[in-house]
Amino acid sequence: MSALILRGAPVAEALLASLKSEVTALNPKLVIVQVGDDPASQSYVRQKLKSCEAVGLRTEHRTFKAEVTLPVLMKTIADLNADSDVTGFIVQLPLPAHLQPHVPDVIKAIDPKKDVDGFGAYNLGKMFLSTDFEHLPPATPAGIIEMLRFYEIPVEGKHAVIVGRSNIVGKPIAMMLLNRGATVTVCHSRTQDLKAMTKQADILIAAVGKAGMITKDMVKKGAVVIDVGVSRTKDGLKGDVDFESVKDIASAITPVPGGVGPMTVASLIRNCVTAKKRQMHS
Ligand code: NDP
Repeated sequence: MSALILRGAPVAEALLASLKSEVTALNPKLVIVQVGDDPASQSYVRQKLKSCEAVGLRTEHRTFKAEVTLPVLMKTIADLNADSDVTGFIVQLPLPAHLQPHVPDVIKAIDPKKDVDGFGAYNLGKMFLSTDFEHLPPATPAGIIEMLRFYEIPVEGKHAVIVGRSNIVGKPIAMMLLNRGATVTVCHSRTQDLKAMTKQADILIAAVGKAGMITKDMVKKGAVVIDVGVSRTKDGLKGDVDFESVKDIASAITPVPGGVGPMTVASLIRNCVTAKKRQMHS
């Protein structure tokens, strides 16, 4: 058996095409704040700006040297919160080492109405209620949900096993799948016998950042495998899943690159449109 390859590009293109008329009508604006020149961040920001341009979304890219101080960054956030022309903004993570411990403060400072990354407590907390309250979900989990919808992969009643419990991927995708009727298991670095867990998955989501750690023997025949992980190796970008062997046993699998990545960008743009609509009605 060879798995259906779940490519992100057609899903992202369809989502962006569906957003285009609203972008034109509502004219939202996204600001991307970038500190330092982390190569991965450079590439992510480039992709975001490119997709925004493709749908005609206004953007501003504010860059700071890696040495920027926390007060300067916080002042920028306060200014963006107050600027009525700015629909939403993101602070590209990770921050340089001296600011990284302050990430929770940085996220907390972003007005929840403009938190288009959906990383703040308000937007994350609302997701606990039901799908009706997933207004500004974090982009990667939202992208995964859109991908499952596009490829008509049923979620209700399925056992979803998630490897990784970060606040931006693992936990929110767990909640979104729970909201859609999946039975959810969340694994992490303290999980004993990871394989015994992953083997049970109808839908297996890997969000760790360890290249090739999910091997064929850890996957149930016919499982749907979603690989969020991105590791920069000497052989290029690699996912958490050993794609070559797992594709022979899975029923569907995302490639890395070209799977979840494009969806993350498209979901961010959708959040900008949603944020604008909600700001107009508040
Ligand atoms: P984090 O580093 O925040 O979280 C990693 C998670 O993996 C943690 O919960 C950790 O457990 C768990 N973990 C680590 N080692 C193991 C192990 N041996 N067995 C089981 N679990 C383990 O990462 P993120 O969630 O931010 O990102 C995960 C990956 O996804 C990264 O590669 C990142 O680059 C990628 N990513 C890709 C995106 C895309 O658009 N394609 C977007 C966002 C992220 P514990 O909590 O116990 O430490």
